[in-house]
Amino acid sequence: MYDLVIKKAKLIDESIVDIAVHLGKIVEISKNITEQSQQILDLHAKHYISAGWIDSHTHCFARSPIYYDAPDLIGTKAGVTSVVDAGSVGALDIDEFYQLAQQANTHVYSFLNISKIGLIRQSELADMRDIDVPLFDTMLAKYSHFIIGIKVRMSRSVVGENGILPLVKAKDMQKKSGLPLMIHVGNNPPELDDIADMLTKGDIITHCFNGKPNRIFDKENNLRDSIRRAIKRGVILDIGHGGESFSFAVAERAKLLDIYPTTISSDIYSKNRIQGPVFSLANVMTKFICLGYSRERIIDSVTKNAAQILHLENKGKLSIGYDADLTIFDIKQETVSLSDSEGEVRQSHEQFVPLACVVTGSKEHTVCIGITEEGSKNGLKISN
Ligand SMILES: [Zn+2]
Repeated sequence: MYDLVIKKAKLIDESIVDIAVHLGKIVEISKNITEQSQQILDLHAKHYISAGWIDSHTHCFARSPIYYDAPDLIGTKAGVTSVVDAGSVGALDIDEFYQLAQQANTHVYSFLNISKIGLIRQSELADMRDIDVPLFDTMLAKYSHFIIGIKVRMSRSVVGENGILPLVKAKDMQKKSGLPLMIHVGNNPPELDDIADMLTKGDIITHCFNGKPNRIFDKENNLRDSIRRAIKRGVILDIGHGGESFSFAVAERAKLLDIYPTTISSDIYSKNRIQGPVFSLANVMTKFICLGYSRERIIDSVTKNAAQILHLENKGKLSIGYDADLTIFDIKQETVSLSDSEGEVRQSHEQFVPLACVVTGSKEHTVCIGITEEGSKNGLKISN
């Protein structure tokens, strides 16, 4: 007797399979599962399924005064099974964030801000005394399953007069744990070339396709040598769309030069979720359909690529033995207008619409199934 069987699910390659979930894991994938199951979700060969979507850059510490949201509003209610909070929280607030995160159905992880104050104000690295290395190390050890990376924001409004110094510190603080370091890039100084030259394999440049002067292209619109060298060393590009950090023009130019992000992420929080231009991870994914990315590439960038760069070993693949995190969605044939962070608009003739997701529970491997508003409209329901 399985916990859950999903009948007639459509994979991204259009093949139709049954998928069984038991004790929080994917246990069988085949044409026709005959084993009994506690619960059944029939997708009638109509709806798609993939490994659960992972948003590698969000803000979901509810008590943050500037960038706050509730994990499930950007997570299970939007087809996203795992969210990474990218530096909203520093060592001073991580205890509280951890407690809050445990109440969510969505899997929540933290990239701990190197500044102990986190994002309680925009300029968390303007005073180097806010970097408390012993406290940082203590929290990293205390929450080793929850803190999966380190965040440093390297733009003018954040670092004040400190220039490249916070990044020098961050690279040093990274040494002990070896965790991935996510670097926010934006307005200069510090200069992008100086930042890029310090990064090593597995470090993540977020807001990679921002349209600010300090972008990945030089004045002639060619890729900066520093970025080319960084990519060659294994530095990763992450979208981190946000309210100010995604430009269609930059993304289009990048595609022309054969430069692709490893991960598509939203940088979502309440304001850009409600007012746009982010709205949801699915909406950001749809923007890459306008850009001519294949559906497979888009899905990979929120599943297996994300799991790989975040070192989430049991996630990101729809395969036997992996965590039973699954996203059910439609690719709706409908023309939509989408705006980037610069107010530029493009049209897409299809869009990703999340309908439901399955998430493994933390307690005794229970399975939670979230059906979105759109999923209910489509008549998706669980039968016993
Ligand atoms: Zn962010």
